Amino acid sequence: KSTMIRTVFSRSLPRLCRPPACHYSAGAIPEPCSQPEVHYDKLFINNQWEDAASGKTFPTINPATGEVICQVAEADVADVDKAVKAARDAFRWGSPWRRMDASHRGLLINRLADAIERDSAYLAELETLDNGKPYAMSYTMDLPTVVKCFRYHAGWADKWEGKTIPIDGDYFCYTRHEPIGVCGQIIPWNFPLLMQAWKLAPALATGNTVVMKVAEQTPLTALYVASLIKEVGFPEGVVNILPGMGPSAGAALARHMDVDKLAFTGSTEVGHLIQQASGSSNLKKVTLELGGKSPNIILSDANMEDAVEQAHFGLFFSQGQCCCAGSRIFVQADIYDEFVERSVERARRRVVGNPFDLKTEQGPQVDQEQFNKILGYISSGKREGAKLMCGGGVAADRGYFIQPTVFGDVQDNMTIAREEIFGPVMQIMKFKTLEEVVTRANDTKYGLAAGVFTKDIDKASYVSNGLRAGTVCSEPSQQRLVHLIQHHDYKDTTSICNL
Ligand code: ADP
Repeated sequence: KSTMIRTVFSRSLPRLCRPPACHYSAGAIPEPCSQPEVHYDKLFINNQWEDAASGKTFPTINPATGEVICQVAEADVADVDKAVKAARDAFRWGSPWRRMDASHRGLLINRLADAIERDSAYLAELETLDNGKPYAMSYTMDLPTVVKCFRYHAGWADKWEGKTIPIDGDYFCYTRHEPIGVCGQIIPWNFPLLMQAWKLAPALATGNTVVMKVAEQTPLTALYVASLIKEVGFPEGVVNILPGMGPSAGAALARHMDVDKLAFTGSTEVGHLIQQASGSSNLKKVTLELGGKSPNIILSDANMEDAVEQAHFGLFFSQGQCCCAGSRIFVQADIYDEFVERSVERARRRVVGNPFDLKTEQGPQVDQEQFNKILGYISSGKREGAKLMCGGGVAADRGYFIQPTVFGDVQDNMTIAREEIFGPVMQIMKFKTLEEVVTRANDTKYGLAAGVFTKDIDKASYVSNGLRAGTVCSEPSQQRLVHLIQHHDYKDTTSICNL
């Protein structure tokens, strides 16, 4: 625990992370097509499109309507075996991929970034259709970040250097950085393209091969990117993409004897299973990026308007479906009432609706299961005595829309203050002293992120230093930025980076 590496963003940073509403102008966004054509619905193995060995398919749903978009091939054990064989073969000594110059690997990744950029509008439409996130967000945030992620790692490909080490005696000692081998990667549904980029880009830059199991709720954009991987010239078997279910295809990948590394982003519960699967199979390396219940601390000297807007964004962004959402908002007693009042007013103004409408700030939750779970948490908040200040119900008569919800007078032991809701539900708590708030903020099994709002840099660093979280943002930055950086956590989570 003492070796935790932390990243702290302070207010001296440029204002990179203002809410996006301030950043894009509607004129810059192309008018979306709300029914983009689906071109790929099969498994991608060895640069080929394949049906599942079982012939099985599953429906992927448009969360804005509850209607089926299309059927997608459902990978299971036999398909995972086939994909791992393909990845192993692509990794064999002397293969085109192993013999490729590092600079050429970088070039291929850059070409992939170019192709994604070329098709950004289409990919953003498909992401919105399958996930429900507003198109304005998909187009202005997800897609550009995906492109940058690939470009960043492309530059890394030929700059991955070893060392020479002056050990005693007549020896020449050096390190050579080698790829791990076949990397299994399991990703969730909240940022389908970005999760794919975060996992693929570093693994490919460093010369690995990949079998990726994408989330069953959102398989479509990953498959389109697979077509671009083939188009730009990655050799066969370097990247294999499998839509399928967690307990079948995901678990088969996690326990596979011929997978060298497993990178997982998802729930803490499944994180435990992944590590157990590694332990009971071949002890493959595992990296986990799991849940969060991140504190966001507002001190009485904070710029009120900024703090309200950023706390709103930090919680409601992406329908509240962010692992690093600032979902425990601690507000200092003397500004508590005003903060709650303004936050409620802001939440009431939040535009919920058709995700293809450019004015929409909040689309539907991803599926019925999440929708039910969130409504269950809202009921528990009411039952346990939190004060429902606004929202609390369903926001449309079809699709999985939930009203932006704010709870005041939340106590630390309430379920809504302890468990990850992963929805548009804000918890606001009151505190008096800095010592008190640090202790309360740290009283959680999670340790992913935290935020501090104050104009006083001394207080910002005092509180940041006390927080046991992998990434701390202080005013005026906020949680959104953490997606871009590698962070090491000391509790449930380890690292967002793959290698
Ligand atoms: P969420 O609750 O946010 O959907 P999950 O952890 O259930 O998060 O899912 C994240 C990813 O993990 C998805 O791709 C899912 O299919 C996969 N997954 C779920 N269960 C398992 C499992 N038992 N083994 C491996 N992967 C799984």
